[in-house]
Amino acid sequence: MARYRDALCRLCRRESEKLFLKGDRCYTDKCAVERRKYPPGAHGQRRRKMSDYALQLREKQKAKETYGVLERQFRKYYHLADRKKGITGSNLLQLLERRLDNVVYRLGLASNRRQARQIVLHGHVRMNGRRVNIPSCLIRPGDEISLKEGSEKISIIEENIAKMEHRGIPAWVEMDVSNVKGKVLHNPSREEIELPVQEQLIVELYSK
Ligand code: SF4
Repeated sequence: MARYRDALCRLCRRESEKLFLKGDRCYTDKCAVERRKYPPGAHGQRRRKMSDYALQLREKQKAKETYGVLERQFRKYYHLADRKKGITGSNLLQLLERRLDNVVYRLGLASNRRQARQIVLHGHVRMNGRRVNIPSCLIRPGDEISLKEGSEKISIIEENIAKMEHRGIPAWVEMDVSNVKGKVLHNPSREEIELPVQEQLIVELYSK
């Protein structure tokens, strides 16, 4: 499947906002947004007024890039969210948040979502004791996430486990650090999803 393979920091700079795509580096002063808070390119520093459409598009791009989802799949999530009861925008973010790669990241087994995706794709993750290598697999409350035997010794994962206690995890998941086992307690509410995105604008964009 096609993936974005260019510099990740460009995506943040395009939005003039930190999307935390690189893990630990994003919290240091090496962050590109900290150093150049304007879009990349020759005209990046030009001030221009954004149209309503541009504002909606930027919010959608922000969410898409944060979760590393391509347009077609993102639109599918929107339609799914629209069919569900409740507020479409919150449903959309909840679906994105329930992706297995995101949960692996949220539990602290990976330092960013891209790394989490790789860990899942390489078959290191078990869901309720069974190996699952599909990053888009949606988790449900009560699901248990663990690692394949021996995977905790892989240097990247080992490093993440060591940092786990300092990272902090959201309230809708819990982690047993000593046994490297995570559990989904409930579906995340909008308040529990830390994402600087105005989801209503995404809904407006797609419902045109
Ligand atoms: Fe974005 Fe992280 Fe790069 Fe900063 S370091 S620009 S937050 S990806």
